[in-house]
Amino acid sequence: MEKKQFQAESKRLLDLMINSIYTHKEIFLRELISNASDAIDKLYFKSLSEEIGKNRNEFAISIIPDKQNRALTIRDNGIGMSKEELENNLGIIANSGSFNFKSENKADDINIIGQFGVGFYSAFMIAKEVIVKSKAFGSETAYEWKSEGTDGYTIDETEKSDFGTEITLVFKEDTEDEKYSDYLEGWRLQNLIKKYSDYIRYPITLPVTENVPVEHEHDENCDHDHEDFAENYEEVTTIKTINSLVPLWKKNKNELTDEDYNQFYKDKFSEYTDPLARSHVKNEGTVSYDALLYIPSKAPYNYYSKDFEKGLQLYSNGVMIMQKCKDLLPDYFGFVKGLVDSEDFSLNISREILQHDRQLKLIAKNIEKTIKNELIKLLKNDREKYEEFFKEFGTQLKYGIYEGFGANKDTLKDLVLFHSSSEKKLVSLAEYKGRMKPEQEFIYYAAGKSVDAIDVSPKTEAVKSKDYEILYLTADVDEFALKVLVEYDGKQFKSVSSSDLKLETEEEKKATEEKSKEFKDVFEEMKKHLAGKVSDVRLSSRLKEHPVCLASDGEISVEMQEILKQMPGANIGMTPAPILEINPNHPIFTKLQNLYENDKEKLGDYADILLGGAKLIEGFSLDNPSEFADKIVKLM
Ligand code: ADP
Repeated sequence: MEKKQFQAESKRLLDLMINSIYTHKEIFLRELISNASDAIDKLYFKSLSEEIGKNRNEFAISIIPDKQNRALTIRDNGIGMSKEELENNLGIIANSGSFNFKSENKADDINIIGQFGVGFYSAFMIAKEVIVKSKAFGSETAYEWKSEGTDGYTIDETEKSDFGTEITLVFKEDTEDEKYSDYLEGWRLQNLIKKYSDYIRYPITLPVTENVPVEHEHDENCDHDHEDFAENYEEVTTIKTINSLVPLWKKNKNELTDEDYNQFYKDKFSEYTDPLARSHVKNEGTVSYDALLYIPSKAPYNYYSKDFEKGLQLYSNGVMIMQKCKDLLPDYFGFVKGLVDSEDFSLNISREILQHDRQLKLIAKNIEKTIKNELIKLLKNDREKYEEFFKEFGTQLKYGIYEGFGANKDTLKDLVLFHSSSEKKLVSLAEYKGRMKPEQEFIYYAAGKSVDAIDVSPKTEAVKSKDYEILYLTADVDEFALKVLVEYDGKQFKSVSSSDLKLETEEEKKATEEKSKEFKDVFEEMKKHLAGKVSDVRLSSRLKEHPVCLASDGEISVEMQEILKQMPGANIGMTPAPILEINPNHPIFTKLQNLYENDKEKLGDYADILLGGAKLIEGFSLDNPSEFADKIVKLM
């Protein structure tokens, strides 16, 4: 059977190429500079095995704007193209001479970027005419390739003294939306070179015009003042190298100082303060990449808002592909700034985005591990700095635990800190666990408005009386995070306001049960009066000094009930009401008994006041403060 070849409608294809592949027109310069760099690389590769009459330091890429003719020229002294090569490489869409070169020649020292055979055509996004003058290395004749886009191209002999290629773009007319002539401005070109091509390995030069003081012939008799001096400036244009050539992250770590790393961070990410920590990774393995990761010392003002965009800069072969690659950072490490450079990324054809592939996932996983280790290291070796970090980004880590419904808990559980009742400072869960008493069954925590408020709260009394450490949770997310964690290293978390603290001995338990039975009727009467506001009234085994406190049965603590109640769309009926606990050893207890026997109405008022008081101690607001105040006054 005869096999038929696919046909392509070249004009339509070129039209697609020009108008649909790229989202940012400005990348045309990146593409043409990459091509120039490839062409130089190829000649450099040749020079390794034969004499070419040029040194490595003579290679350069020149960018030459010509405002008068609305034209921009990109010139290289690389390998150049013969007539056939012009036909094949620029006349056949998706034919990549560079890709073929890479496949045919394997060498460590070259760094060919091209692969898809389409980048060149991006020039037509901004140019109405493209003229390519080229002389192949070793050839006598130069050729000129010329095209106005989809209509086709011409190739003619031309004059060109040196080998290499010179591409001239004649810009389209400016429109309201698109000011093509901006690409002729020095600042714009400098920005683009810095942004995308800063680490091209050959100098990229641009004429730069600056105001410089005019040099005076030194005249002994002339005593000019400052004003006079200030007028003597003139515009001078010099050819300058714009790119940094060698990326910082490609340098050896031992060549770099803290200052180098910090300066780079500040320049690159527009930061004013030094980072808290950094990590420079050079990974060789299933995937090879270099990464530079920084932990900022301050959260950006919009960090905890929807406006904040996380992401690492992504480079392929030193060329900037993406400003913020989200997929390289999990949300909970979204504060990290930095970049990743790898030849292993599968770029899509526009080189603007990545194919979501195995490599990307692998690199992201590795980066997550690196960040975690870096933070653990900071926690161990520089506690003060870690606490500074935690103050800025700790909430994010706790959200990370909660949001993943536990999926990320192994990554995050050792990074979170809580205030400790006994240490009076932030402690990690590992530190708590390490200090636990032999008989202690749970990791205790107490939630509240502030450390001071929790510290004097009656609910902590029982646990404190056993000399157990308590974690004080002061942020809304804290308790939710612990609930998702469930346990740390085999020890479950328990709220000090949970109804079964399991602190009593069997005997104590029995005694409480018996006493409860005895006073069942008093509690029932109070409960009847407080219907809807409490789920139960009980005898407390946790209280030592205080008369009353709030407690909860089951999973949702009193504090969580309050938070849930305040959430938008909260269904108050769904959240359970708290339990009012009464201290049997407090004088008020006898009073309540008396009232039950003699004045049930007053017992109701007492119940209201005790519940109000318990709420106030917790820092909650009262449903009806004036009624509460009236009742107190009435009793007075
Ligand atoms: P890619 O760079 O992905 O291969 P392009 O469409 O940008 O695709 O370029 C197509 C081919 O044209 C390149 O592979 C290269 O062989 C050739 N080419 C482009 N620009 C130059 C140049 N400045 N010097 C020499 N060859 C070039």
